[in-house]
Amino acid sequence: MRKPWRVAVVGGGIAGLAAAVRLRDRAPAGTEITVYEQSGALGGKLRTGALAGRQVEFGAESFLMRDPAGGESAAVALVRRLGLAGDVVHPSVGQAALAVDGGLRPIPGGTLVGVPGDLDRVAAVAEPAADADRDEGRPLLAPGADVAVGALVRARLGDQVVDRLVDPMLGGVYAGRADGLSLATTMPALARAARVEHTLVGAVRAAQAAAPRAPGAPVFGTLAGGLGRLVEAAATASGAMIRRDAAVRELAPTGAGWRLTVGPTRDPELVDADAVLLALPARPAARLLDAVAPEAAATVGGLDYAGVALVTLALPEPDLPALSGFLVPATEGLLVKASTFFTAKWGHLARPDGLALVRASVGRYGEETSLQLTDADLVATVHRELSAVLGVALPAPVASHVQRWGGALPQYAPGHLDRVAAVRAALRGAHPTLALAGAGYDGVGIPACVRSGETAAEEIITALGGSAS
Ligand SMILES: Cc1cc2nc3c(=O)[nH]c(=O)nc-3n(C[C@H](O)[C@H](O)[C@H](O)COP(=O)(O)OP(=O)(O)OC[C@H]3O[C@@H](n4cnc5c(N)ncnc54)[C@H](O)[C@@H]3O)c2cc1C
Repeated sequence: MRKPWRVAVVGGGIAGLAAAVRLRDRAPAGTEITVYEQSGALGGKLRTGALAGRQVEFGAESFLMRDPAGGESAAVALVRRLGLAGDVVHPSVGQAALAVDGGLRPIPGGTLVGVPGDLDRVAAVAEPAADADRDEGRPLLAPGADVAVGALVRARLGDQVVDRLVDPMLGGVYAGRADGLSLATTMPALARAARVEHTLVGAVRAAQAAAPRAPGAPVFGTLAGGLGRLVEAAATASGAMIRRDAAVRELAPTGAGWRLTVGPTRDPELVDADAVLLALPARPAARLLDAVAPEAAATVGGLDYAGVALVTLALPEPDLPALSGFLVPATEGLLVKASTFFTAKWGHLARPDGLALVRASVGRYGEETSLQLTDADLVATVHRELSAVLGVALPAPVASHVQRWGGALPQYAPGHLDRVAAVRAALRGAHPTLALAGAGYDGVGIPACVRSGETAAEEIITALGGSAS
């Protein structure tokens, strides 16, 4: 009889947990799955908490309902697999604003992460360069090529479209700048269209037409009860042994499989596994890979990250506009880069007492000095800047919370996907029972990380000899 497989999943974020569920579903019965998580809690960047007696997310708050290529997102599929589909809720207020020129303007519709498919619709916020997006008789991007989002959009539509639309929208997701982020990684549908279309506006329209959205269909969803429920349900469904406070510090091939060194240096535990799935941010993954595949480790470890802080204020009866929140272009010179009117956006959390939770994110890539402020100074700065943007003196918070996420958001430079493909090809050749998953490779966001974990799980199942079904 075949001995049960032993699979070690290193990292208990959503990528690792989605991988563990997929292993449970597809690997032969009896497979021993262990999730090693260095901290005391599962979930990684998913962390549901409470402030002033209200539920709030101190990390990711929602997931995209649809895959950018069409169909439901991998997050929605996982939620359904876990029996939580009935608990998905959508924002009660969809409209967000841009803070420009000292006031708030509605974010124009019809754009792809701020890149317009119709120039007239963005004119109230940003004036596109006249006549620069000309058909020059060839596709915008050569096959396989990549480019920084900012470089492409500046050349075709001018600086204002980048600075006042694309940059704040990309910044809201990556805490990074359009001038540094890879088009192919952050906007894959637009990159695909740009390899065919001759103008940027044409490419946006083609990308939108390739994945049409049903009118009125919600863009985002979250779980009543918080995203912590997704984490718990995935851990339970995986049937994995969950090891919290269990940092994996070393990884070594043994010939037949792997040996992991787990726990504190003075009292390490050595564990053997047939396969290892590293679902870690790039830097800790690179440290483990260093002794196994130094070249791959150098490439993986070369990925830069931005740190951010989420500052949540509980405000008694604030005078807030009917918006889900706003984004702030870097050119406005504020520390706050985005704000969510949490209890207004998520109507299921509102209570009749008028207390509102407002969350602001601080920290752009390259400007991390703002994160060196004390918690009290961050709270005061956020309160002051929110009041200025809204043009009202907000009441003093009755409670506040500062969540710092150091090294939180990967900054994918152009060519990122090619580098990841090369690393995976090298590992597959030399170490097929070692797989990589998570935001360091396949994109930021819950759906991308779920899919990344599931794909890595499938690779491991194939490497170990195929699935049960
Ligand atoms: C502030 C913020 C807000 C966000 N908002 C959203 C949002 O609203 N919607 C959305 O879709 N996405 C959002 N994202 C992005 C999304 O949360 C992440 O892309 C995703 O959660 C990353 O998952 P992951 O499993 O790849 O990594 P992580 O969540 O980073 O998990 C990795 C885990 O590995 C553990 N670990 C590290 N080293 C070791 C080790 N040596 N041994 C064992 N364990 C280790 C870590 O403790 C961590 O738990 C947000 C991200 C941030 C930072």
